[in-house]
Amino acid sequence: MNRTVGFVAALLPALLMADLACAQSGKPGVEKLYVLNCGEGVAGDISRWSPGVNEGKSMDFVDNCYLIKHSQGWFLWDTGIPDAVAAMPNGLAPADPKAVTWHRPKTLAAQLDQLGVKPSDIKAMAISHTHPDHIGNVEMFPTAMLYVQKAEYEWPGANNAPRFKPEHPVTELEGDRDIFGDGSLTILSTPGHTPGHQSLLVRLPHTGPVILTGDAVHFKSNWENRGVPVNNFSKEQTLASMQKLSDIMTKEKAQLWINHDKAQRDTLKMSPAFYD
Ligand SMILES: [Zn+2]
Repeated sequence: MNRTVGFVAALLPALLMADLACAQSGKPGVEKLYVLNCGEGVAGDISRWSPGVNEGKSMDFVDNCYLIKHSQGWFLWDTGIPDAVAAMPNGLAPADPKAVTWHRPKTLAAQLDQLGVKPSDIKAMAISHTHPDHIGNVEMFPTAMLYVQKAEYEWPGANNAPRFKPEHPVTELEGDRDIFGDGSLTILSTPGHTPGHQSLLVRLPHTGPVILTGDAVHFKSNWENRGVPVNNFSKEQTLASMQKLSDIMTKEKAQLWINHDKAQRDTLKMSPAFYD
């Protein structure tokens, strides 16, 4: 046998062991969380989300996506307003003038690119629910495993259309799910806004536990007053889901990050800054 080959062959198990040790020294779990700008808009009439309160008043909305670096790969929570809206000078106007006119100051693609993350690097993703301001860019990631509640996946869309492309890889959930089996990223079933709405509990190593609400609640005053938007699928389920999140917050001492709340987002570090 060639001596060099023999030497390398003998060394190989040791090299593999060193590799394994290195992989194990990086702690398993969530490493970082980036808050991405996935839309900004103006609601025509805020009472649509808080019946009887502030009727006729408009309010600024924001829309976030959250990119999470887990030791097993990149995970994306929500995909926001479609990137195509970035090219629309007047934004995307809603059919109902009381709803939100959305703008896209930055594309999702550009924000991933800034971090050196390619769409094909996203190993898995989940969406809070199937409203257009949350699923606008799902097909930018055609190979990423999509975690969605069965009740949402099977909820018929307009003209009975499916909510997602049937060929998109999917894991249909029926309740809570610890995504990587280490407790660092847990999907929480929070129906009410839609039939299969879900939220996400992220346990960050230094920041601590954070709950990403999706649209289980739209802004702080609705959280404090248990306000339920008029168009929610089920008021009863919405209130039960808010109580569930409240109980988890207490138990975990978790922060509540409300997706559409502009006042709160103004206090958050936006990507490329991150939380760890
Ligand atoms: Zn929304």
